[in-house]
Amino acid sequence: MKRDELRRMLTEAPYDALVLTSEVNRRYATGFHSTAGAVYLSAKQAVFFTDFRYVEAARAAIGDFEVREIGGKSYTAAINELIEQDGVKRVALEDRMLTYADYTAWATALHATAVRLEDGVGQLRLCKENDEVEKIVAAQRIAEQALEEVMNDIRPGATEKEIAARLTYLMLHYGAENMSFDPIVVSGANSSKPHGVPTEKQIEAGDFVTMDFGCIVDGYCSDMTRTVAVGHVTDEMQTVYDTVLNAQLAGIAACKAGVSGHEVDAAARRVIAEAGYGAAFGHTFGHGVGLEIHEAPVAGPRMTAPLPAGAIVTAEPGIYLPGKFGVRIEDMLYVIEDGCIDLTEAPKSLVIL
Ligand code: ZN
Ligand code: ZN
Repeated sequence: MKRDELRRMLTEAPYDALVLTSEVNRRYATGFHSTAGAVYLSAKQAVFFTDFRYVEAARAAIGDFEVREIGGKSYTAAINELIEQDGVKRVALEDRMLTYADYTAWATALHATAVRLEDGVGQLRLCKENDEVEKIVAAQRIAEQALEEVMNDIRPGATEKEIAARLTYLMLHYGAENMSFDPIVVSGANSSKPHGVPTEKQIEAGDFVTMDFGCIVDGYCSDMTRTVAVGHVTDEMQTVYDTVLNAQLAGIAACKAGVSGHEVDAAARRVIAEAGYGAAFGHTFGHGVGLEIHEAPVAGPRMTAPLPAGAIVTAEPGIYLPGKFGVRIEDMLYVIEDGCIDLTEAPKSLVIL
């Protein structure tokens, strides 16, 4: 239970209560999603405050926090009552999530010394528990089902936006709560932009079509990319595709607990550099995925920290040739002691539609 893990954190920390106000950490703690609320946790009390709009649903959904309606009070006034009951001297606030103005306002209003939570909750979120992995896998299976069906719609004349809309529809149809992010569907020369936006451009024979998308199940995101060809490919397209795939496989082979994000990134980058495309791979190999689509850990050149067992990190090298085309292939990896489990099952050999 996340409440108990958060409480264990309190025993070693230089604070005796914590207050979570960010949407994502409130959801992590309680499992409940709302746009407004605050979590208060001390050794004695675990309370989730929210407003009239959410209180009924919160009471039905949350078992391990007492749910209280904020009513006409301010969140700080409500929390001050608990601080006084518990004799709290130091209270941690989410310095990494709050704006400076919000942090200052909370610190001034609370009747305890505010200290920075720093990366406390982030560290807990880094290593996924089984229930979290299951949700991410469920989201991934939905994305794969959508991909399989959208292949039927990718043909000359279909626009990038139409394919993006179809992916969105299919993921919602198969049970997604929402998109992890707006799907990226780029084709032909547009595919050289790693985070290009779908346009009215029609797909043409000879195009690569890169689709980067994912969905959310019970708060947890999935993320995948596949690049397919339409009609035919040139030798250069085939070479670039093979190079990206080999780079991804090299990164996956290097990925295990204790290895740094830098080493995983370097294993893939080496393959691309040796093929002569080093300058065309300008982003990192991967990022963590969980309640947020981009979270820790990052597998990139500057990341010297070892990857922990339980982290989920993407494997997404790419080669981008401006004015010509781009290729990216992305899976999600679950890091374990002696390697990693690829959570993505969609095939990766080049598909020519
Ligand atoms: Zn992606
Ligand atoms: Zn990604």
